[in-house]
Amino acid sequence: MKKILITGGSGFLGSHLCKRLHREGHQVICLDNNYTGNLANISSLIKEERFQFVEHDIREPVEFEVDEIYNLACPASPPHYQLDPLYTIETSYLGAKNTLELAKKNNAKILQASTSEVYGDPQVHPQTEQYWGHVNPIGPRACYDEGKRISETLFVNYQRRFSIQTKIIRIFNTYGPFMHPEDGRVVSNFIIQALKGENLTIYGDGSQTRSFCYVDDLIEGMIRLMNSSSNITGPINIGNPNEFTIKELAEKIIAKINSSSSITFQELPKDDPLQRKPDISLAKKHLNWHPEIELEQGLEKTIEYFKQKI
Ligand code: UDP
Repeated sequence: MKKILITGGSGFLGSHLCKRLHREGHQVICLDNNYTGNLANISSLIKEERFQFVEHDIREPVEFEVDEIYNLACPASPPHYQLDPLYTIETSYLGAKNTLELAKKNNAKILQASTSEVYGDPQVHPQTEQYWGHVNPIGPRACYDEGKRISETLFVNYQRRFSIQTKIIRIFNTYGPFMHPEDGRVVSNFIIQALKGENLTIYGDGSQTRSFCYVDDLIEGMIRLMNSSSNITGPINIGNPNEFTIKELAEKIIAKINSSSSITFQELPKDDPLQRKPDISLAKKHLNWHPEIELEQGLEKTIEYFKQKI
């Protein structure tokens, strides 16, 4: 049994990670200030032994005795992270610094949840970890993109200076149950709109692409990276390389729900990446990982969740 701290533990990915690691028999400390997380996501755990929820803002230092740290705390959907850009920057940078300091004190292994957003609006396709990206440093997405980039830089420099065991995962678009219904992401937006019979809102002409990873696959990849040998530090892309246009996604969801909704087109947000698809060769090679749940099946599970929810 390991003692594991998960920052951002009551968010979408964090709550899945808490449940999985708790199920495996570990002691889990879930830390969150519920800025975008929600206690309802971890309600099944709250009274369990080996589980502790700590309300804390990771911009402030933390003191725990732990063996492993997963640093997930940060608003992650574009509308949420753009709500208060300074908060997003501080959470990324100070959160990484405070959790790295904790790892240093405890000699703990630490994993940083980074993002495909470090590639910006990519000019290389698919994106390999070697690609340095194409980020507008002063655009509306920069608070998140640059926040996550400097966090990666901090991680590799703590590793070089203090020999801490660090791991960096670059997470591509992920979906599934317990997504925040109002975080404005495309999968949750479209499913909720289709279930309510409202028009699906495509931004731009819908020709931009994303590659959608089901949450269970993502969590499996994240845990494999944490448990990998010490020479595997990443960054490693984790995502599903099957690429779809946003229009294809809208049509799939309407068909799956057999919804009466149609599609409306709205303005494309500034700096919205036109294409995104992970190259997952490294994850396959070093972690023996590949996604197992394809979009059709994952959408069914997610639609079931939102049907109950609304
Ligand atoms: N999008 C859309 N309609 C929506 C929400 C999002 O067309 O209601 C588009 C968005 O402009 C982007 C893609 O879907 O091109 C994915 O957006 P999301 O916010 O889910 O994640 P991102 O990959 O941009 O971080």
